[in-house]
Order: sequence, then C-alpha cells, then structure tokens
Amino acid sequence: MSGDTLEKIDILSLTLDELEQIIVGMDEKKFRAKQIFQWLHVKRVFDFEKMTDISAQLRLHLNKIFCVNGLFVQKKLESSIDNTVKYLYRLSDGNFVETVLMEYSYGYSICVSTQVGCKMGCRFCASAIAGYVRDLAPSEILMQIYEAEKDAGVRVSGVVLMGIGEPLDNFDNVIKFLSLLSHKDGNNLSLRHVSLSTCGIVPKIYELADMKLQLTLSVSLHCADNKGRSEIMPVNRVYDIDELIKACRYYIEHTGRRITFEYAVIDDVNSSAKDADRLAALLRGINCHVNLIPVNKVKERSYHTSRSAAAAFADQLAKRGINATVRRTLGSDIEAACGQLRRDADSHNKIKGGAEA
Ligand code: SAH
Repeated sequence: MSGDTLEKIDILSLTLDELEQIIVGMDEKKFRAKQIFQWLHVKRVFDFEKMTDISAQLRLHLNKIFCVNGLFVQKKLESSIDNTVKYLYRLSDGNFVETVLMEYSYGYSICVSTQVGCKMGCRFCASAIAGYVRDLAPSEILMQIYEAEKDAGVRVSGVVLMGIGEPLDNFDNVIKFLSLLSHKDGNNLSLRHVSLSTCGIVPKIYELADMKLQLTLSVSLHCADNKGRSEIMPVNRVYDIDELIKACRYYIEHTGRRITFEYAVIDDVNSSAKDADRLAALLRGINCHVNLIPVNKVKERSYHTSRSAAAAFADQLAKRGINATVRRTLGSDIEAACGQLRRDADSHNKIKGGAEA
C-alpha cells in the first residue's frame, strides 16, 4: 500500500458507532454507516465503487478518507491428511502472520494471530524465536478470517486466538476485533464460539472477566510448579502460578464460564508422576478442562514428546480425578506449529516480492 493510503482511516477497524460518528460528521445520514458496515462485514465488498446503494458522491468521499487494510496470501500449505490449510499472509507493511483453517465434523474453525511475533519468550514456541515486531490492528485480525473464508469458499463457525502473539498483550485491539466479529449488523459470530488463549497476563485476565464476554478462556499452564514453569515460560517470573490461579477463579466466578488449561506435554520437563500430582492438586475443585498437547517440534529446540506420552499423562491425571483430553493433531504434515512459517519466511529473504492479490 502506498504512503498515501497509510494516512487514511482503516475502515475495517472501526466499530459501527465510530463509523456512524464519522459519516454524520460528513453531513450524511446516520443509516449510511450501517449500509457501509454491512457491505464490508456481511457482503465482504471492500471496493467503495461497488457499494451500489451509496451515492457516487459519497463513494468518492469514502475513497478519500478511508482505506481497507488488506492482507495477501503469500503462501498456502494444504494438509493431505486432514484438509487443514495454513496461510502465510503478508500485511500491508510487508510483515507476515500465520492463520490455520481446520475442518471438524461440526464445521470449520480458524486459528488467528494477534501480533507480529511475540514478547513472551516461551521456550518451546517458534514465535518466541522470531521475536516481537508489532501489534495487529483489529482489521488485520479480522481479515485473516475474511480472506481464508473467501479463499476456501467456507464460513467458519469457530475462532481461536491461538496463533502468533499474546492476545492479552494487544488487549484493546483484540477486544475491538471481538466486538467486530460478533456484531449483529456485521459478521455476527457468537463469542460462545470463540476461544482466547493466554500465557497468563494476570491483570488482563481480571479486566477480561469484568467484561463478562461469553468467550472461552484458555490458559497456557504447561507446568504446575513455579520453578519449572518459570524455566519454560518467563511470564511466570512476573505473575506466578498462585496469582494466575486466583485470577482464573475470579474469571470463572464472574463469567460463569469454565476455563480450559492448555498443557503441552514435554518429555523430561513436565510429564512425571510428580507433575501429575502437582497439577491435580492445583486444579482440584476448579471448573475447568485440561487439554494436553503433544509438544510440536521446533527445530531450534530439543523438546519432544509422543502422542502416547500425552495419553499416558492423561491416564495419570484421570487416576487423580482430573479429566483431560489429548488434543487431536491437525496439519501435522504442514508445520502447523505456531510461528514456524513466519520465522522461515522472514529468514529466507524478508520475502521476495510476488504473490500480490
Ligand atoms: N500467547 C498465547 C496464544 C498463542 S500460543 C498463549 O500463550 O496461550 C497458542 C498455544 O500453543 C499456547 O497454549 C502455547 O503454549 C502453545 N504452543 C506454542 N508452541 C507450542 C509447541 N511447540 N508445541 C505445543 N504447543 C505449543
């Protein structure tokens, strides 16, 4: 996009209220804003010229004031095993993010990124290796979905914020994205079908709880003792397990929603009988679900596990009265682990031109 467009207002990041204010400020009728909002979020028409029930004069104005912060499919990997599709998108400033579209028996679910890179530094995560660049705008999170839906010719029925980035470290934009995603005059997806995953930024968990949104909160726990968790997740040195669990209890109490704890099972790190004891003791009595993930191999790291090790850990937990499921691995043939594609794209050239939409 040219420098000229960068000064324009990113229309896909505006709520309907904000758009109404601008449109009314242009001496236009308020209902025009809703028409435009629906062109964008329902009909997915991003070219103002094609908004046929808007006057030619207003369309001209829209072109002058607003831009559509588009993203482009730079690379697309399709799993031959299970129809999972992984997109590497190029943003308007040349940065990259990843999005994964997954097919389940009940429909399509999509995993979106919330930042270019991540500051959190989890030891087992590929996003940490590539480093943090910037936050994504609401429009850039939303367009990951709109573009994938267009490309695949499907509508997604579930969204997970589990791609690159820490959603609660880009709080305001993520909240705005959620309100756009679920707006009844727009995309209209119930937040009951949305999961937000966090490494545990405690003050933001309280803030989110107070908003009483109907989404599912996933907490990346990965270890039930402070020493071990601090080694693999530096965020634990700032907000330790006690503080995190206290915030989780508050969240459950104030939203009435159950929390999912994510636990990447890693050989020799967090999957011994002692680890199961600690985890069971920590979560006893909490309205939650435990999701065990066989750790995805990241080539710079030596962490590993097998599906059977994750299943064995689930058995150990069951014996201690904690129900856990082992997450189905999708897209295992297309490097579906967080951040791997972006890291490779960045290191291979800051990618060579091409693939323009
Ligand atoms: N920052 C957020 C969301 C992005 S990561 C968070 O930490 O929750 C999404 C999930 O994938 C998290 O549970 C994260 O810990 C996990 N994850 C990252 N790298 C992984 C890997 N190599 N193997 C298994 N899970 C991984």
